[in-house]
Amino acid sequence: MADATLAQVQALADQLTRDERESLIQHLQSGLTAVTSTPVSTGPATTPAAGGAASGPAPTQAGAGAPTAPTFTTVNGTVNATTNVRNGYRYNAKDSSDTDTKVATLKAGDQAVITGYTLYPPAGEYERRFRLEWNNQVVWGTASTFDVDSILGRRGLEFMPFNLEKPTNELLAIIGVSLDNGVSLDQAKEAAALLWDIELSRITSVEMFQEALDIVKKLENYGVMLGVEASGKWSIGNLRTVFNAIESTAKGTGALFEPIFGFRDDALAFRVMYGPLRITRSGKDNVNPFGDALWYARNTAGYEIVFGNRAFFENTQTTKSNPGLFYTSTDLVAHEVAHIINWRYPREIKPGSALTQKPANYYEAKIAFASYDFEGQTFKFKSYNEGYAMAARSSNGIHETVTDAVACLSLDRFTDDIKGRARKQQMTDYMRQVITYRVREHGGVDNLVSDIAKKRSTDLKLPAKMQPILEIMSTAPLNLDNELHDLGSKLTS
Ligand SMILES: [Zn+2]
Repeated sequence: MADATLAQVQALADQLTRDERESLIQHLQSGLTAVTSTPVSTGPATTPAAGGAASGPAPTQAGAGAPTAPTFTTVNGTVNATTNVRNGYRYNAKDSSDTDTKVATLKAGDQAVITGYTLYPPAGEYERRFRLEWNNQVVWGTASTFDVDSILGRRGLEFMPFNLEKPTNELLAIIGVSLDNGVSLDQAKEAAALLWDIELSRITSVEMFQEALDIVKKLENYGVMLGVEASGKWSIGNLRTVFNAIESTAKGTGALFEPIFGFRDDALAFRVMYGPLRITRSGKDNVNPFGDALWYARNTAGYEIVFGNRAFFENTQTTKSNPGLFYTSTDLVAHEVAHIINWRYPREIKPGSALTQKPANYYEAKIAFASYDFEGQTFKFKSYNEGYAMAARSSNGIHETVTDAVACLSLDRFTDDIKGRARKQQMTDYMRQVITYRVREHGGVDNLVSDIAKKRSTDLKLPAKMQPILEIMSTAPLNLDNELHDLGSKLTS
């Protein structure tokens, strides 16, 4: 098909409503199917028979080689700032020759159906454009002025590469990747959809790009979604460090789940205990929102962790409060994850609960300096650090010591002596109570939503930040309510 014809078709399609487009596509496809369904080739099958399905009648799918209909989603968009919508995607405040006509001015709170997106690079930071249906018209608006009501819906939007010589490069550029070749348009579309809200940095090869995508997808499977603030960007090194810590914590948690529930699924174990979790890369050195003290990282209410530049480093460091024990960058990430246990569980103490106190109080009263019978001996622990091989805490406050203890259990970082073994047993016994509490009493998605709403006082935007990963954890195959139900039935049996 000549380019001119394609451009004409696109220009026409641009004027159609979604229903008209779908009807046209169906019409064209029925025509194509009619043509290709005559003698189906008896050559090599186009789809390998996946183990079985003997040589019976071919399944009633479209004939070999027939084009599959691309399935696109739509999503509802709510205007977040006064914005003009126009009859085309080419407008640019900086260039008066870009003059697609204004159709209407929408105000905050107005809604439109978003049916697709394109990029218009001359508009710089406003290059992302949504194709909208508004008032029965097809119009275009700046993507940043619309909040979408579904992340999965937004990821399924159709991408229309209008008049771009290199759509793959343009898509990669919006996520901070400049690779000239080796990435297909489909991969670039997937990456742009997945990484829409963040930017990568220092991706210098296709292999690195694929590794980054792989990490982001695996993190979602753990109930973790990445964010950015203060011009932060995710380097491949940052991604590897965070992933190592999450994967190690998941392994430690999976090992605790196995004897309780009778099966091993590390990602499930992490999701249930620590998901939903947002991990944000800040471009600042100090992420302390309250004062001057230098914080490398912070954990907001047990739901969002923010890492600044200093959180990522080579080799080891020590803290002022515990100069005798070292920690790595991965240990620091695991420590911030471990804070979730104390910040989230329990929401309230009820009679008969598996947990009778907040973790910090219980740890201080019953574990840190406990007398403990183990391997035929009775110990009296004399200091917080006895038995532990890592400390990444900012102080010796009780919420910090329990957090390091949980992180040491996740990472299996105990001293190689009887005290280390005793600490491991203490913490294993304790985390069994926390896990039992979480599965039996802490509740599913609705409870998480209301818990997050209550914790808005720490960050007004917390509910909006957590919405996307909650949506993913509410959708098969990661439906948290179903997972909790299954685990709960194993717990009582
Ligand atoms: Zn801490």
